[in-house]
Amino acid sequence: MISFNFYSPEQKISLPDWQKKSVHVSIKRDDLIHPFISGNKWRKLKFNIQAALAQNKNHLVTFGGAWSNHILATACAGATFGLKTTAFLRADIGINNPVLAMCRLFGMELIYTDRSAYKNKSALFETHFHQNPDAYFIDEGGHGPLGSQGCEEIVSSLLDTYDHIFCACGTGTTLAGIQHAVSTSGLATQVHGIPVLKGGDFIQDEIQKIHPNASPVTLHTDYHFGGYAKTKPELIQFIEQFVSRTGIMIEPTYTGKLFFALDDLIAQDYFKTNARILVIHTGGLTGFLGMYERFNLYLGQ
Ligand SMILES: *Cc1c(COP(=O)(O)O)cnc(C)c1O
Repeated sequence: MISFNFYSPEQKISLPDWQKKSVHVSIKRDDLIHPFISGNKWRKLKFNIQAALAQNKNHLVTFGGAWSNHILATACAGATFGLKTTAFLRADIGINNPVLAMCRLFGMELIYTDRSAYKNKSALFETHFHQNPDAYFIDEGGHGPLGSQGCEEIVSSLLDTYDHIFCACGTGTTLAGIQHAVSTSGLATQVHGIPVLKGGDFIQDEIQKIHPNASPVTLHTDYHFGGYAKTKPELIQFIEQFVSRTGIMIEPTYTGKLFFALDDLIAQDYFKTNARILVIHTGGLTGFLGMYERFNLYLGQ
């Protein structure tokens, strides 16, 4: 059983506007799990790494964009557990940034891949690692059943109970695990997803692919701000206010959209008085590193 000690408390948080509406918000601080194996990326890697070790594989092979939280997490987890790591990067040769520099520092091999080749990940894996008994495939973002299984522990580790759980969604793997754990534990909690991509209704199908009998989650699909990694001045302003008032870091790609949605729903009286809400902080400082110039632009700093 691989593991390391980490700390992910449920932290109560109260902003004046939220207090006025008499809702009780706590944040599950998965962002504190580890500085580089952050948030849901550790949850999604855990059972994958365990499976790799059980199959005597010592080389994690995965996929991601140039600012991927997942490839950074994989690079650091590989270094931590003594495994080689390779990532196929959806990026033009020559692209470099602090995340890729950190991946290299953790010993990860980066293979720049053009967009058309990147589409077929199993073909890339087959061509480069054909008959390589050491290589273990991990899908982009840790997507898949083992990733989702790790995210069930978000729920099973909770100390308190809640009326609502909120989480940002990219592939929906994290939300699938949360929903499955909530229903198998017989909790009366309503599970909400904030898709960060346009057309986020597909998350419902993704959850069904992992858990065919899952009951539907509540998706709030209007908080994508133009699509994946897209942003708008009001999102940046919200993030600046939130971070400066709470001391909790959020970023524009995932958690900024999540907390913006929560704040907006609270303002619209979506919740009953005294509703108990848990927001999953899935980590991901690197989303900020990739977009800090937009903060300069919109905030005039
Ligand atoms: C990857 C990521 C997500 C999306 O998780 P999925 O399981 O793909 O839905 C959410 N938040 C952060 C910070 C992430 O890095």
